[in-house]
Amino acid sequence: MKVVEHPSLLALNTFGIAAHARLMVEVENEEDVLSLPRFDAAQDFVLGGGSNVLFVSDVPGTVLLNRISGIEVIAQDGQQALVEVGAGEIWHGLVTWSQRQGLYGLENLALIPGLAGAAPMQNIGAYGVELASLLDSVTAWDWQTASWAVLDREQCCLGYRDSLFKSVQVGRYFITSIRLRLQKKFSAQLHYPGLEEELHGAGIRQPTAADVCAAVIRLRQRKLPDPAVAGNAGSFFKNPLLGQDRFEILRGEFPTLPAWPMDHQRVKVSAAWMVEQCGLKGYRHNGAAVSRRHALVLLNRHRASGLDIWQLARHVQREVQLRFGIMLEPEPRIYLQSDSAG
Ligand code: FAD
Ligand code: NAP
Repeated sequence: MKVVEHPSLLALNTFGIAAHARLMVEVENEEDVLSLPRFDAAQDFVLGGGSNVLFVSDVPGTVLLNRISGIEVIAQDGQQALVEVGAGEIWHGLVTWSQRQGLYGLENLALIPGLAGAAPMQNIGAYGVELASLLDSVTAWDWQTASWAVLDREQCCLGYRDSLFKSVQVGRYFITSIRLRLQKKFSAQLHYPGLEEELHGAGIRQPTAADVCAAVIRLRQRKLPDPAVAGNAGSFFKNPLLGQDRFEILRGEFPTLPAWPMDHQRVKVSAAWMVEQCGLKGYRHNGAAVSRRHALVLLNRHRASGLDIWQLARHVQREVQLRFGIMLEPEPRIYLQSDSAG
């Protein structure tokens, strides 16, 4: 178990924020977890790939760096395989591994940054597929009871960019592995707009899993800013979910508002459209900016601090609230000690 004093977190978060911690411990296996000091959610922090976190302040305690590796098929029949994945495995590495094994279901989730252990945190999703459709269970150390816990998919309460771990039980569990059910027969999920067109554009009518994966990678590389070029955490705001009544009032006022029904009661409306309508694309605050290409992405353009980005996010929230009466909810975890609110 590697321990580092006063580490810089600069290279460990995709926003490229120069935050520090008091201590950092690299957790490499389950035995390491048992020898950790007690976790204090008010002081300490669990870090995966750092692609969905904004450090507004330093971490006064310990950063637990999740580096638990291993991918293994633990059960299978003619149709499916149950795959156990160490929480420290790189997500996209898992996607490419599954292609090589002839196990399917992860194609639309190709190239999402970060590690497998963080995937259940917000039920990662892209191009019409969410982790929820593949997850069997999560194994985690429960700091509250000081024991191992296995949570099945229902217990994880996965929702739109949400889970038990992100909302109700923040900081209670240290996820050490996840189990996924992957299919032995490929079935393409092409209903998300743009995906089929991308394949047709490449002359492909009956895509293989590798074709879908490659199309998703091309789309992402074309549309999304690369954190290596300008720091970012992907979409900074979630699309708001509105009740039917509220949605109809808003649609009455803004007839071109893009919206998608979620279930019988709720409608998902486009946060990107609202940000754009407020004229905020390209808006700058110190070294931080709203991307010109993608209204939901906040960028670290030039040595922005976590506070610069957080102040920019608050400005966007205020403008959208004034115009549409909706408070946009950040998607990344905002790490903010109370004396650094700005
Ligand atoms: P981190 O940022 O390290 O952590 C995120 C949260 O999870 C933190 O609260 C952390 O404490 C907690 N956490 C991490 N690991 C553990 C663990 N083992 N146990 C307990 N808690 C843990 N997300 C999508 O859903 N879909 C996308 O298409 C998508 N595209 C993106 C594109 C870009 C360019 C970027 C930068 C981000 C994108 N994201 C997307 C967001 C992000 O990649 C995912 O949410 C990813 O799952 C985060 O993984 P991570 O390992 O980097 O998590
Ligand atoms: P896009 O395809 O331009 O769509 C923009 C937004 O509209 C997305 O938020 C998407 O919601 C929503 N949307 C569009 N068509 C939809 C439909 N038919 N049904 C439901 N919702 C629809 O988005 P993009 O930014 O290029 O991203 C493509 C995919 O990658 C999306 O699924 C997006 O979620 C994912 N992505 C996520 C992040 C992140 O950080 N969370 C970052 C980059 C990309 P959804 O977000 O619910 O799909």
